[in-house]
Amino acid sequence: RAKESGKNTYRVFTPAMNKRVTEWLAVENSLRKAVDLQEFFLHYQPKVDLGTGRIVGVEALIRWRREDGEIVSPVDFIPMAEDTGLIVEIGDWVFAQACADLGEILGMGYGIKMSVNLSPRQFRQKDLVGKIRETLEQAGIAPEGLIFEITEGSVMENEGKALALLGGLREIGAGISIDDFGTGYSSLYYLKQLPIGELKIDRRFVKDIMGRGDNVAIVVAIIAMAKSLKMRVVAEGVETVEQLQFLRRHGCDEMQGFLFSKPVAKEALLEMLALGVQLDAAVYRKSQQQP
Ligand code: C2E
Ligand code: MG
Ligand code: MG
Ligand code: MG
Repeated sequence: RAKESGKNTYRVFTPAMNKRVTEWLAVENSLRKAVDLQEFFLHYQPKVDLGTGRIVGVEALIRWRREDGEIVSPVDFIPMAEDTGLIVEIGDWVFAQACADLGEILGMGYGIKMSVNLSPRQFRQKDLVGKIRETLEQAGIAPEGLIFEITEGSVMENEGKALALLGGLREIGAGISIDDFGTGYSSLYYLKQLPIGELKIDRRFVKDIMGRGDNVAIVVAIIAMAKSLKMRVVAEGVETVEQLQFLRRHGCDEMQGFLFSKPVAKEALLEMLALGVQLDAAVYRKSQQQP
């Protein structure tokens, strides 16, 4: 790298930089081993319909339990997995596991959808649709039970290819959602052409709905836009009753957030489904518990 930057320039590695590189390599190494040792597991966060208050789906979220027992958040290893390409292997595992769990959930009679995140690198894979179809067949699951979450960046990186890929996913019957909506630079022109069924409003906008006026305007505008494009709109990161009321008032379709539930293990999810936990009852119960 230092050589590439030009004949007459020298890049000096300071001890601090050296330490960073060493740490980075150590993480990469243990991440590689984590794939072999199967140190990953999934949590599921419910998505709730704001009209009925019922769980209509879940988002699969990966966690990494390291050898020493420490649980690592995806924000601390997905970027590395993305850079090294390990995300492809990890993503295959996530998808297969999510399908297996969805099979079990559907088999128990709960008709919910499973949302799975696809990072830009995963999205760029050559035969993504074929691979997805194969995994679904092996798990005996209809593609209609799945929603793939992609970011605006994945789409805008190569609009033509995104159109073809999303078309392929839509053709087999799977749903498509734009994650963290409002943080990227997607053009409305392309969004309109893509077979997108859902927009997820980024947590950052939801967070200060009650504070700064400009975020209120953004959330209201995203909901209105989604409606006019006939897309479902989901708010992520809903933590307070005030946010919930605001979103309901403005016609948001679904919510996901700690107010209803944190991401939980499959067993806890099954318990919620068995109890038929509903949004308003859950919120009421929580408000009673708080001192
Ligand atoms: P994301 O797809 O936008 O997922 C939503 C994140 O918001 C999750 O963080 C979730 O725990 C968090 N969240 C949900 N509700 C609340 C809330 O009310 N308050 C707060 N403070 N946070 C809330 P998590 O699980 O740490 O995942 C972070 C990101 O890592 C995800 O963002 C996604 O981009 C990525 N990720 C997670 N699992 C996977 C995976 O299997 N594959 C890929 N490619 N990326 C993944
Ligand atoms: Mg997501
Ligand atoms: Mg999101
Ligand atoms: Mg997010």
